[in-house]
Amino acid sequence: MLLPGSTLGVMGGGQLGRMFVHAAQRMGYFTAVLDPDEGSPAGRVSHHHVRADYLDELGLAALCGHSDAITTEFENVPAEALARLAEHRPVAPAADAVAIAQDRAAEKAHFTRCGVACAPYAVIAGGKLPAAVGDDLFPGILKTARLGYDGKGQVRVNSRAELQAAWDGLKRADCVLEKMLPLAFECSVVVARGRDGAVVHLPVQRNLHRGGILAVTEVHETCVPAAQALRAIEAAKAIAEGLQYVGVLCIEFFGLEDGALVVNEMAPRPHNSGHWSIEGADVSQFELQVRTLAGLPLVQPRQHSPAVMLNLLGDLWFPDGATAARTPDWAGVLCLPGTHLHLYGKTEARRGRKMGHLTVTGPSVESVRDTALEAAQRLG
Ligand code: ADP
Ligand code: MG
Repeated sequence: MLLPGSTLGVMGGGQLGRMFVHAAQRMGYFTAVLDPDEGSPAGRVSHHHVRADYLDELGLAALCGHSDAITTEFENVPAEALARLAEHRPVAPAADAVAIAQDRAAEKAHFTRCGVACAPYAVIAGGKLPAAVGDDLFPGILKTARLGYDGKGQVRVNSRAELQAAWDGLKRADCVLEKMLPLAFECSVVVARGRDGAVVHLPVQRNLHRGGILAVTEVHETCVPAAQALRAIEAAKAIAEGLQYVGVLCIEFFGLEDGALVVNEMAPRPHNSGHWSIEGADVSQFELQVRTLAGLPLVQPRQHSPAVMLNLLGDLWFPDGATAARTPDWAGVLCLPGTHLHLYGKTEARRGRKMGHLTVTGPSVESVRDTALEAAQRLG
């Protein structure tokens, strides 16, 4: 067990790393971040910031030199870098689990092994389109197997001809073609699993995406039909168990109109949809990451308030198509009760860039929804 006073390292310096660093420091740990960017959100607030590329030998050695154990905040840190670190320090999650989560085909195969259904799909690999792609996969979504996020690397296709053109457009990268499903809702579950196999989870989170990017997360007792919520939690635990996973894992699901629940994808780290837990639960997803990494006891988090989280994208800095960035009206939302503002310290606002989030907590589902709606209106 690594007690407070030890140093926890993290690969990646984005907002997830920043919130991990905040959680670790609150509990009395020192922190080290590896990220090539001078102004990275986590690097700016960490005791140590190693400015190096993820596969840089000297950088990895420097991170090991600072850290007693190392985690990751960025899905696309090369699994190989984690494997190298693991020769010298405890690393969680392990490189092989991260490698599976980085590849949509491997990820879906893992879900299937765990007995959790995903959307019907076909794997496109090795620079060749399969001779026969079942017509039942159209209309479908072509997704690059690797490096996709926030809806990037995805194209909707209605026919074999469109598939060919879309795949050419993706430079014939390895892909999966997935059937478009009639979604009733989307939800996610954050689970944390310790080295001793103990598993705890946050409640099911209901997610609304706009243009492939998470826009709103709502968490309360009835945000998802009870039967599907239970199945999502059981499935998330089975998926973590099947990986012998250590750390925080988030699993995204689709709820279908016929009452079915299918798994979409997983992220081997805390997730945007779990940010509400900083104020809405007694143990946040970032504290869970600290606890799993340090080998501290895991206790089941308790939600103490309904919560709505609004993502704050760079678009808010450019109202009505303005060309110069303008600071949004923070005072206008902070005067509303139960609002918690998080800004990630990114110097430049860009459209579609995640700049921060706003969590609303309050005494009832109606009150947090009303306040979130009011806040969204005031931000424009
Ligand atoms: P990303 O890695 O970019 O988050 P996802 O696979 O989660 O990629 O897809 C982004 C969003 O696109 C999903 O949250 C969902 O809204 C929509 N989507 C993805 N796959 C499907 C599908 N098979 N059927 C319907 N909608 C989908
Ligand atoms: Mg997703």
